[in-house]
Amino acid sequence: SRGDVHYFGAGPAPLPTSVLESASKALLNYKDKGIGLCEISHRSAEANEILARTRACLSTLLDVPDNYEILFLQSGGSGEFSAVVFNIVANWVERRRKVAETELAVSGTAGEQLEKNVFARLKKEVDEELKLDYLVTGSWSLKASQEAARLVGAKHINVALDARRSNDGKFGKIPDESEWTLTPTVAGRGPALVYYCDNETVDGVEFPHFPSCLESPSGSEDDGPLVVADMSSNFISRRVDVRKFGVIFGGAQKNVGNTGITIAVVRKSLLPPASNMASTSLLRQLGLPVAPVVLDWPTIAKNNSLYNTLPIFDVWIAGQVMEGLVQSYGVKKISGQQEVSDRKAKLIYGVLDKYSQVYTVVPHETVRSRMNICFRVGGGAAEKENAFLDGAEKRGLLGLKGHRSVGGIRASNYNAVSTEGAEKLARYLEDFAQGQ
Ligand code: PMP
Repeated sequence: SRGDVHYFGAGPAPLPTSVLESASKALLNYKDKGIGLCEISHRSAEANEILARTRACLSTLLDVPDNYEILFLQSGGSGEFSAVVFNIVANWVERRRKVAETELAVSGTAGEQLEKNVFARLKKEVDEELKLDYLVTGSWSLKASQEAARLVGAKHINVALDARRSNDGKFGKIPDESEWTLTPTVAGRGPALVYYCDNETVDGVEFPHFPSCLESPSGSEDDGPLVVADMSSNFISRRVDVRKFGVIFGGAQKNVGNTGITIAVVRKSLLPPASNMASTSLLRQLGLPVAPVVLDWPTIAKNNSLYNTLPIFDVWIAGQVMEGLVQSYGVKKISGQQEVSDRKAKLIYGVLDKYSQVYTVVPHETVRSRMNICFRVGGGAAEKENAFLDGAEKRGLLGLKGHRSVGGIRASNYNAVSTEGAEKLARYLEDFAQGQ
């Protein structure tokens, strides 16, 4: 039964049992209305209340400032790989267009001639200056960078870091910032964005802190690069200074809820009036892609995330999970969860390190993920790893098989993994090692 099992899957991942119990009731009969949560309209008063409460909980947990919008979307973390490119490139073009228009109008040109001159200048700027910087530290940031190249063309993508280069062709390290080759910023003009994945789910690599070289020198959003972070697998597991980011996004299916929604926290200045015919036509003329409407953040924002049918049940689950955290940790907010996550991770890594003749932690010590603990057993010998997994299953410790692309063992230590679960895993690690 559920009580006999601890699940360490990487996503979909465990959810608090109390939330699932309430969910099963809400599915049948929400708030005694005689209909269930999957049956009510996404435009009903109930749905609006669920949206507002879920947003409020996230704002509380992460101290989301007023100049950020919280969007609920539906195409997964991968959908945001594309959305980031569409939206930020469109925003970049719009900002450059305004500057060009102002500067070129000074010379007295107007009307059609001005439009032509603006277009010529934009064409040149796109050609020579449009760069999207990617820090590739694992398979998800790699995928995001590949999607960006697919959408705007490889010449506009600067892989400022490929962490495999300094680690025998494998992910597992984040080289020193001095080795990153970010697009230089000259006279306030630098890369359109700098993208990274805060926690690489497959490779078990997590940024220990916000990269210093991406800090805004003055602390203002007009200064320093526009930073985009994929936090799919470490969302609401530690303190984050949202103001340092233009965009943070994450699929719900790890720390937040069930599969079905993706949350994006987007700085409002990146949300110009919803894309109109003039701006889409300009993008097309410049050879740049136009977002499908369901990935167009301004459209989603303008419609309170209800441009089309949003799975309100999924939003409700995320809301319940977050409300649980708000209640558990009170004024500590997400720092309370951070302490618990850190403690559980430390416990597991502690045993892995103690038996280093049996276990090998995959990533380098300084970038070990607190969320996805990746290791090999017996140097990666298949019979040892299978024996480890079989023994774990006998104790009700499930979901420990590593991602198919890298093999090995992966213990995902998300928020809903209890301290008891982490302790049971630590005990099994001890017992297994001692039997070797
Ligand atoms: N980013 C990260 C860090 C992930 O772990 C995942 C999925 N595991 C994704 C993006 C892709 O998410 P999705 O499957 O929802 O598209």
